Amino acid sequence: MNLIHQWSLGQLLNEPRPYRLIATPEPNCNLACEHCYFSHKHVSPTIQPLVFQWGEALSFALNNDIEVLCAGRVMSKRAVDFVWYYIAAAKVHQKEVRLSVVDNGYTVFNLEPHFDHINTFNISIDGADKAHDKQRRMEGSARVAWKAIRKLKRKGYDPLLSSCLSPITMSGWNEFEKEVEQTDVRLSVSLTLDVGSTRSPSIFSKQDERERALELLVTGIPKLVQIYDTRDIEPLHKVLGDSVIWEKSENLPGMTTALDNGVVIVYRPLSVLRLVEFLMDHEGTVFCHLNPETSTLELNKKELLAWSIWKHGGI
Ligand code: SF4
Repeated sequence: MNLIHQWSLGQLLNEPRPYRLIATPEPNCNLACEHCYFSHKHVSPTIQPLVFQWGEALSFALNNDIEVLCAGRVMSKRAVDFVWYYIAAAKVHQKEVRLSVVDNGYTVFNLEPHFDHINTFNISIDGADKAHDKQRRMEGSARVAWKAIRKLKRKGYDPLLSSCLSPITMSGWNEFEKEVEQTDVRLSVSLTLDVGSTRSPSIFSKQDERERALELLVTGIPKLVQIYDTRDIEPLHKVLGDSVIWEKSENLPGMTTALDNGVVIVYRPLSVLRLVEFLMDHEGTVFCHLNPETSTLELNKKELLAWSIWKHGGI
């Protein structure tokens, strides 16, 4: 039995169903970012196309009204095939297409024939040009992403700029927010996650740096701030004061608070996400948030055991 058959784990916790399937139909990326949670080893995909392997996960998503987030890694032919197959499957099942995409700006227009089916375009820019290019380890990559955002807007779409704030991208952050405001694009920001086994300059290792980052996020222009790490809550309260009131998020699992300056903070700890977001890798394997074979993240013993049971077909 695989994960799809076994999501009774969620039922045991009174969680009716996962709310999102994050699909990575393409195993390789054109970038090798500092803060990436994937390994950058080249993977040779097996047979193409793999529609028969993706089918089970997509039927599960469609039949359970679960959003599909196509998070690339880039919109290669394989990823475009995946999107095409999802839309076709929705028609066959007579279900609503609930599709969002994430792209670093280089390849999103490969999906143009399917644009009208896409609910949200997330384009990643992590900060001011110099800082972004350093974090993304590619000269000029910030401008490529900005160009994609402006082109999407000219075509009448409303992209979301997704950002990862790190010790690298804190430099020049205010300048970056100015460009966001001038471009009139929605901004969503999270801090880079300190959950990997390798030290990277994109990880917050000092607590005071983390506090300064949170301070930057809750001030400035209106934005969505996504907090995943429980260690951020105490410094966040220090920055905001004790008057902050958390409410249960309506649509997504988590807690939210809205500030007077238009900043909305959503707190969704990884422990919760691991239970309610499923991931699908390029071969169609669905697992609980992390795949130890392709991820640089460390899993604890229980997660490894659960993953191994799901991957290898039941107890
Ligand atoms: S663009 Fe995304 S998937 Fe590609 S290396 Fe960067 S963070 Fe990883």
